Amino acid sequence: MAKRILITGAAGFLGSHLCDRFLREGYEVVGMDNLLTGNIKNIEHLFPVKEFQFYHHDVTKFVHVPGNIDYILHFASPASPIDYLKMPIQTLKVGALGTHNLLGLAKAKGARILVASTSEVYGDPLIHPQTEEYWGNVNPVGPRGVYDEAKRFMESITMAYHNYHNVETRIIRIFNTYGPRMRLDDGRALPTFMSQALRGEDVTVYGDGSQTRSFCYVDDLVEGIYRLLLSDYHKPVNIGNPAEITLLQFAEEVLALTGSKSKIVFEPLPQDDPKQRQPNITKAKEILGWEPKVDRHEGLKRTLEYFRQHI
Ligand code: NAD
Ligand code: UDP
Repeated sequence: MAKRILITGAAGFLGSHLCDRFLREGYEVVGMDNLLTGNIKNIEHLFPVKEFQFYHHDVTKFVHVPGNIDYILHFASPASPIDYLKMPIQTLKVGALGTHNLLGLAKAKGARILVASTSEVYGDPLIHPQTEEYWGNVNPVGPRGVYDEAKRFMESITMAYHNYHNVETRIIRIFNTYGPRMRLDDGRALPTFMSQALRGEDVTVYGDGSQTRSFCYVDDLVEGIYRLLLSDYHKPVNIGNPAEITLLQFAEEVLALTGSKSKIVFEPLPQDDPKQRQPNITKAKEILGWEPKVDRHEGLKRTLEYFRQHI
């Protein structure tokens, strides 16, 4: 019999790709989303598929799904800085109350649950690249604290359910990921740079652009999630592409790829913006046999096609 998986945040960027992947693998997929930051268009193509069901529901409220559930992927949460700065309370609630509800559901159904944590648990990191053993450098009362601390709480309560209730849990720490279905106006670097370049507007680099990130293409991330879910490892695992780049170089790459005449302008760096970020992926390599396959040039080309169609 087909395995049944519940995916929260199903109408979002990552959630919708996960629905596609698990349907392709022969799973029955139950998608759940309250459309806070997601877009129903990301999953419209799945509505005729009989193995797909959609619940419009806010996971901070009691979550009820009739029937058996074998796996849960908890991906619901605002994820881009402008989203979580606009919705600080919802962000804290979905990381805390939402995670609690889904862990409770996992316990009741005997399901294995994987929760979407983030490189933000490392805050503005004092060690580089970041390994899973690093405890992080987070400002709990800064503007980003609402997201970072929600995710840190998510990890703690997930470990508590593992240790005290023997729930099968998995924790992924996702580093900056990009690809088709990102919202053009979600404020993250890639969609912002690409929409600005395609519209001929100034490309806004914050600070002097010397801060770094390491960008992973969505298909690689989805493969990592798939492998981690099916693994027997319950401690946090970094998944990301270690190819690190400054934000200024990144903006220049996007401009070169689009052939845009836009110029780069510099704007103030947001408070607590991490100065550098790069995953150490030794664990993912050793435990999951995973490493990224799509380089930035190829990933950006595929993403540009999507943005050209949706601008
Ligand atoms: P997204 O905003 O595209 O998707 C999040 C989805 O969750 C949206 O569809 C939104 O409507 C839904 N949602 C939010 N609150 C909800 C609630 N209370 N109940 C039900 N649904 C709710 O963001 P994304 O980039 O796809 O991120 C998905 C997950 O991955 C998030 O948990 C995020 O923290 C995590 N993550 C993403 C990245 C990345 O680079 N994209 C990096 C680290 C972690
Ligand atoms: N950034 C930028 N210009 C923009 C949007 C973002 O220079 O228009 C910078 C931002 O300050 C950060 C980096 O790009 O240093 C990545 O930001 P993003 O919001 O994509 O994700 P973060 O890694 O900060 O969560």
